[in-house]
Amino acid sequence: MKNQRIKPVLIFAIFLAIISNIYAKTIIESISLSNIKDTTLMILEVDTMTKMTFNRISKTNLQLTISARSAVNEIKPLGVIKKIVINGDSTQTGFNITFNKPFDFRKQTINSNIVLKFFPLPVKVIKTVILDPGHGGVDPGAVGRKHLQEKEVNLGIAKALKKKLENFGLKVILTRSDDRFVALSERTRFTNEQKADLFISIHCNSSNDSRKANGFETYFLSEAKTDWERAVLARENGSLQYETGDVDSLTQNDISLILADLSQNENLKESYALALEIQTAGVDILKDVDRGVKQAGFYVLRTSFMPSVLVECGFLSNSAEEKKLNTGKYRESIAQAIFLGVTNYIRDYEKRTNL
Ligand SMILES: [Zn+2]
Repeated sequence: MKNQRIKPVLIFAIFLAIISNIYAKTIIESISLSNIKDTTLMILEVDTMTKMTFNRISKTNLQLTISARSAVNEIKPLGVIKKIVINGDSTQTGFNITFNKPFDFRKQTINSNIVLKFFPLPVKVIKTVILDPGHGGVDPGAVGRKHLQEKEVNLGIAKALKKKLENFGLKVILTRSDDRFVALSERTRFTNEQKADLFISIHCNSSNDSRKANGFETYFLSEAKTDWERAVLARENGSLQYETGDVDSLTQNDISLILADLSQNENLKESYALALEIQTAGVDILKDVDRGVKQAGFYVLRTSFMPSVLVECGFLSNSAEEKKLNTGKYRESIAQAIFLGVTNYIRDYEKRTNL
């Protein structure tokens, strides 16, 4: 007899459990969107706190699921939110949010409000390039057998390259635009002040040992590892001899310190990537001997806090190369090669960092 009385109670209890499961306890009572500068706030008012899951579908799409029934099933997009689709049943509510830019978000709970802050990811773009035509004024740089001076070739290539990069949409600043002496320390101080994104120093090579030495090589900052790298380093840093007053001379030790710096390490990686693109394009366009990407502690590279490379465009000590380097046509080809290298690098960089 006892069992028969218990049965209806049990059935009622099960019924209650099912009902309370169907109708989740938590209710999203209201949803509001507002903007503060470039941040869009989404405030959900709930009667009790509940579980939330976030699933980033893509850089511009987020799926948010809340274990709560929503009293709101439509909301107008605002700010960084381009579209918002609400799908729900009695136990949970899904929000599919599409953003107009790559986004990031933070979650905060304040009393019975869930506050979601959506903001666009900072977009990394390369806008400004510094071109540094080596030497100038009293400092001729390397001099060819027919007396062609490096400073003149460097400036010619830099000017041709400036035009091409500007047509591509970049801002280009030259460290010198005529035949004048600019101290190495002045070049780097100026460069760091400009808040530029890339630094390219343009030079021509010379070899004391072999008049046959020829080809194109690109350097990035590091410690010189080979005798050749040390020789080119000594020659290019030789501009320091024309400087008056205190020369801020850095030693190999200083270079190690700079390289140990984290941001400089990041620049080092990028400098290598840029050097590689320029070298590849140079060899391809100029059909020149590939002398490869090299590393040395050039003064102008080690004090520039941005990805920086130094291009040695050809050998003035080689008669055939001196002859070519004396023509506008060849300088134009070199500018085109560096241009392709730089723009390939920029495309790759922006794809890597923003997608
Ligand atoms: Zn030089």
